[in-house]
Amino acid sequence: MNLYDHHLDDSELQPFFIDKNTVDDNARAAALVRQQSDPVRGWPRYIRNLDAYSRILRDHVNVQGIDIVVTLNETRAPSVTAKTFESKCINSGPCMLCHLDIEQKGVLTLDDRYLILVNPGITIPGDLTIASVNHEPQIIVDSFDDMVSLSKMLTDYLLFFNGAMAGASSSHFHFQAGIKNTLIAERQIDRLLDGLPVGNAELVPLHKSDTGRIFFLNKYLRAVYLIESTDDQELIRLFQQFFIDLRAMNQKMIRNISNVPDFGGSIRSLNMDETEPRMNLALKYFPETSKYQLLIFPKIFNRPSVYFKKGAQQIIVGMAIKESLGNLISCRTSDYQKLLESTKLISEIYNDTSISTAMADELNQSLRTVFSF
Ligand SMILES: [Zn+2]
Repeated sequence: MNLYDHHLDDSELQPFFIDKNTVDDNARAAALVRQQSDPVRGWPRYIRNLDAYSRILRDHVNVQGIDIVVTLNETRAPSVTAKTFESKCINSGPCMLCHLDIEQKGVLTLDDRYLILVNPGITIPGDLTIASVNHEPQIIVDSFDDMVSLSKMLTDYLLFFNGAMAGASSSHFHFQAGIKNTLIAERQIDRLLDGLPVGNAELVPLHKSDTGRIFFLNKYLRAVYLIESTDDQELIRLFQQFFIDLRAMNQKMIRNISNVPDFGGSIRSLNMDETEPRMNLALKYFPETSKYQLLIFPKIFNRPSVYFKKGAQQIIVGMAIKESLGNLISCRTSDYQKLLESTKLISEIYNDTSISTAMADELNQSLRTVFSF
């Protein structure tokens, strides 16, 4: 059974459409979520996880003026504990995206090259996994334009990409998506763009054209860059240039850091050497203003130093795009309690996994030079 066999066409989704007059990929994805949640026709693992999700614990912690949502969410445990890209992991078993459960259904999109699936690890209900129909490596270089196209079709969603050494849990090429404006950092970044305060965070302009701009967000617990454009080709060009500069910085500076693999080593689960800078991406398109908004979180690694401690000292977290967007996920009660009680611990976890101030300075310098800003 290949991935095409899991596709549900519009006639099969028909009972699950809410507005039967507007059938686009947003409506198909929403109908798919309802189909997979259906007690009779749905996907049993997803239904169990929806039940577990109903018992999720969640609280806000203010860390250096920046609110972070801390959750205890067992549905995310397979992702948070995944060791797909850790060097000791020789064989992580059969690919979960090549071997779907029989009841796991999806919707083919983008010339039938991707299958939209529900994400069984639920951060926010409605989360999607968008898998390449073929088993290709988790690298973005030739697929960023697909991410742009998907964001323009799935306008109800924010599209995500986790780099291999920056929190991806599968080596099979995939994006994720979540309903727009549900993660706390989205609202914080909107506030900053509206000129309102978020702790001491500040937007530092690095580039401006007639149709686009790049900012660095300073003093925001983790380094993040914002690229906005109303022109998809400009967005792709700006991302490609950013990618080159970030990779050069990674090559120069991600080395000899405690618990962090040097940049450029062999990635066994991809069967190739590391060539892509470590980063999490989030992209959304606003049809009302024809604007794309891309967030890039450059990373050192997905595991902070507390992950490597022994016994009761260890905290199991995996810092990927949801965590970058302010949703810090734990899957053990003891870890959850420790995170709620220590803003210092949360600050260290972001600090250990994000690029350092010196690295951001180096990157900003090269971006300013290349964009003559
Ligand atoms: Zn696969």
